[in-house]
Amino acid sequence: MNADRATGSDATASTTHSSRRTFLARAAVTSALPLAAGLLGAGEARASGVLPDYAPIPEASKGPALNDRGYFVGRIDGDLHWVTDSSYQAMFLTTRQGVVLVDAPPTIGHNLLRAIEEVTRANGRPRKVTHLVYSHSHADHIGAASIFGRDVVRIGHTETARFLRRDADPNRPAPTLTFDDHHVLEVGGERLELAYHGPNHSPDNIFVYAPQQQTLMVVDVLYPGWVPFKNLAVSQDIPGWLRAHGIA
Ligand SMILES: [Zn+2]
Repeated sequence: MNADRATGSDATASTTHSSRRTFLARAAVTSALPLAAGLLGAGEARASGVLPDYAPIPEASKGPALNDRGYFVGRIDGDLHWVTDSSYQAMFLTTRQGVVLVDAPPTIGHNLLRAIEEVTRANGRPRKVTHLVYSHSHADHIGAASIFGRDVVRIGHTETARFLRRDADPNRPAPTLTFDDHHVLEVGGERLELAYHGPNHSPDNIFVYAPQQQTLMVVDVLYPGWVPFKNLAVSQDIPGWLRAHGIA
């Protein structure tokens, strides 16, 4: 993995978006971030109306400036691009056959289409999303999946499919192609390697690796120079979450 090009989670979250979870990991921000100790506990602070004195958000964790539509799209390497609303991220490959999109966060929503249109207009590749990879089943990362229509190939882990069939959310149609351990997706001369390494942030979270671009996307796990979101221990497999860092 090239740490310069790892997408993980949420160091871009600001204090007002602390529940939002995505981040473009950069080696430059991997130094530990010293957090100023709060003068009061959170409960006490709320009760007193006095906020604790936190360290400022590091510049490298704020993400790029957004356009007036509220998104940024940029090239990671070659035909691999990322799009963000400063909190969430998606990644897409433009290929000779169509676009392979990884995740569809609802906060970015239709701006995903605008970002893809912008890039494919510039590079002359087909703009239609033909493949949609789910990192995991959580609605905040794939809740805009339905805007790509019913005939897109949706790829996810077997557990993701089980959760989505159970949830029956029309915004998150279940995968049409599932895998248990590994799946290699080859579309129009581009390649993504999908791997399952056990539960971490969620029981179904996968690793998405683009070998030609040396880019790894692992969602809601990696927080370079940052802290994980609160309630980490409530619903996550903590040993698995820690192990995922070593695997990445
Ligand atoms: Zn999640």
